Amino acid sequence: MNRVYNFAAGPSMLPVEVLEEAQRELLNFNGTGMSVTEISHRAKPFMAVVEEAESRLRSLMNISDDYYVLFVQGGASQQFAAVPLNLLGKNNKADYVVSGNFANKAYQEAQIYGDIHVAGSSKADTYTYIPKNLDIRSDAAYLHITSNNTIFGTRFKEFPKTNVPLVADMSSEILSREIDVNKFGVIYAGAQKNIAPAGVTIVIAKKSLVDDAENVLPSCPTMLKWSTQAKDGSLYNTPPCFSIYMSMLVFRRLEKLGGVKAIEEINEAKAKMLYDFIDGSKLYKSTVNKEDRSIMNVPFVTGSEELDAKFIKEATQNGLCSLKGHRLVGGMRASIYNAMPVEGVKALIDFMKKFEVENA
Ligand SMILES: *Cc1c(COP(=O)(O)O)cnc(C)c1O
Repeated sequence: MNRVYNFAAGPSMLPVEVLEEAQRELLNFNGTGMSVTEISHRAKPFMAVVEEAESRLRSLMNISDDYYVLFVQGGASQQFAAVPLNLLGKNNKADYVVSGNFANKAYQEAQIYGDIHVAGSSKADTYTYIPKNLDIRSDAAYLHITSNNTIFGTRFKEFPKTNVPLVADMSSEILSREIDVNKFGVIYAGAQKNIAPAGVTIVIAKKSLVDDAENVLPSCPTMLKWSTQAKDGSLYNTPPCFSIYMSMLVFRRLEKLGGVKAIEEINEAKAKMLYDFIDGSKLYKSTVNKEDRSIMNVPFVTGSEELDAKFIKEATQNGLCSLKGHRLVGGMRASIYNAMPVEGVKALIDFMKKFEVENA
């Protein structure tokens, strides 16, 4: 087996045990004589998959009965529209924190539907920090944040305190750290960063918000209404069956590892190792405000584009892949999600040391 360490921002690494389990079951799922991708989504064996995925996610994240857990399609980007369409019905106002590229896209999409106000922005400083001291309108229908900024490598260590419902795009950090779901009105996340293959998007939404039909804009398409998916247990139409199945396997594995608290400790340790090395090195520099650093996405630069390109090329030759930074930042970015083992981060640091010595 020639598996590399894949530092891609998304789609990204999956746990080997999960891939092997899927491989074992691919031709004959649960004694059905069919693959999980060939079964009717209304058949019992598949309904059991959706139910297990939901109940395991509820237990991993401690999600109470006050919330719906939905498995939908369209990616996090689709939710950029679904959020205002489902929440702006009563009061056409919403506030956004513009802390990165995806946050800005969410903000721009919302502007199509209502009176949208920037509660805080770090755009003028190329998103190198998390905006603090937010200016939140007391009559806003919600405040939208991007809890972890995948491209720039920052995160909300603490979430904003506000009296309006808090809506968070957690695509690149869901299940990476313990959070109190009760503090949120809605949490959504595309699966392909920290959970499963692309295709499924998870929406965790407070029932009181979803059940109040007046919150929904009249123009909201049936498919984008959270209430549509809630009524049918995410089976209103054909769901992304394989991604939901893979999510279930990842949830099972995470439970075996000891849950979110256990993986959070591992994630903190991985990030600390990498940041400590970067901070102590003469060649590499972190690109963002120290206190706002993400523990999932770690961008760094050498200060020379030529050297960055050499680094990426030689790293790839050494089985350390997809380290090229996003085109908006340049340099390198190591995405070290839940599935990246500690050994992968150690291998990266060993390579960085060697490269620094050779290119000093
Ligand atoms: C990747 C990402 C998105 C876009 O997700 P899609 O599923 O491709 O639509 C949105 N927000 C964040 C924070 C992301 O990391």
